[in-house]
Parts: sequence; C-alpha cells; structure tokens
Amino acid sequence: MKTIETTLILVKPDAVAEGLTGQVLHRLESNGLKILNCRMLRLNAALLQEHYAHLSHLPFFPEIEKFMSSGPVVAVALSGENAIARVRDLLGPTDSTKAPKGTIRGDLGKDKMHNVLHASDSPETAQAELRRFFGSTEPKV
Ligand code: ADP
Repeated sequence: MKTIETTLILVKPDAVAEGLTGQVLHRLESNGLKILNCRMLRLNAALLQEHYAHLSHLPFFPEIEKFMSSGPVVAVALSGENAIARVRDLLGPTDSTKAPKGTIRGDLGKDKMHNVLHASDSPETAQAELRRFFGSTEPKV
C-alpha cells in the first residue's frame, strides 16, 4: 500500500566533514523523496541520551556519544511514498562492511559506527524524531 510518510535522517558528523551531505541528499531526492525541512546542529549529551536511549546500556555507547558529538550533523525531514522503509532500504544495514553496493552505507560507509546516516526505523520513531529535531511531525517551512 502506498502511504505518504515523513521520516527523519541525520547525516553523521564524519560524513558532513567529508562533504558527503550533497551526494547523500542527491541520492534521496533522485528517488523521489522531498526535503520538507533541514537544519545543521551539534548534538549535545541530553539530545544524544534521548535519541540513542535504546543503546544506552551497551558498552560502546560512550563511543557513539563521542562520535555523534564530534562535529555538526545535518538533520533533514524527508517526505514521500513509504518514505520510512524506502530510506532505510536505500541506506542499507547498520554495518557498512556488510551493506550491499548501491546502498548509501555500502558505497560511502566505513564500518558499524561510521555508517553515513541515521534514519528513522518505524512510524513511531519517525514521529518522535521529527518532534525531537523540528518540533513537529510535519515540519513544513
Ligand atoms: P541503525 O542506525 O542502523 O538504526 P542502531 O539503532 O542499532 O542502528 O544503532 C545506532 C547507531 O549506533 C548505528 O548507526 C551505529 O552508528 C552505532 N552502532 C550500532 N551498533 C554498533 C556496534 N556494534 N559497534 C559500533 N557502533 C554501533
């Protein structure tokens, strides 16, 4: 079934620093996803705790915090048909070394942690993350 959805991506700090933001957005826009809103920001400890609460018990959580706060991220709200699953498909699995070629992580990612983008993984997380970064689930400018 076709449903128009809005999802949230974060271009991770290393990808922003390496100048990959344009390439990543080009891939997503070429697949019919529309940019509704975007902003560049630095993730602070409170935002990271909230955003990665599902990982906060894991031994590598401090490394994730360090990495994700090492420079600015680019947060983008994207809308389109089945946008949540479609962006995850275009992104590929968490571990970049196992992501197929042709996916964003397979082509541009480095490893499990340095995997180019965060993307919402369900309608519930998309709503929470859009509110977290844009204050609204339909953050039109
Ligand atoms: P995803 O980003 O694919 O939804 P998770 O929500 O499981 O994956 O993890 C969030 C982020 O934490 C990952 O994108 C990655 O940057 C980091 N991460 C997850 N698992 C590992 C791991 N085993 N080792 C290092 N970093 C990890």
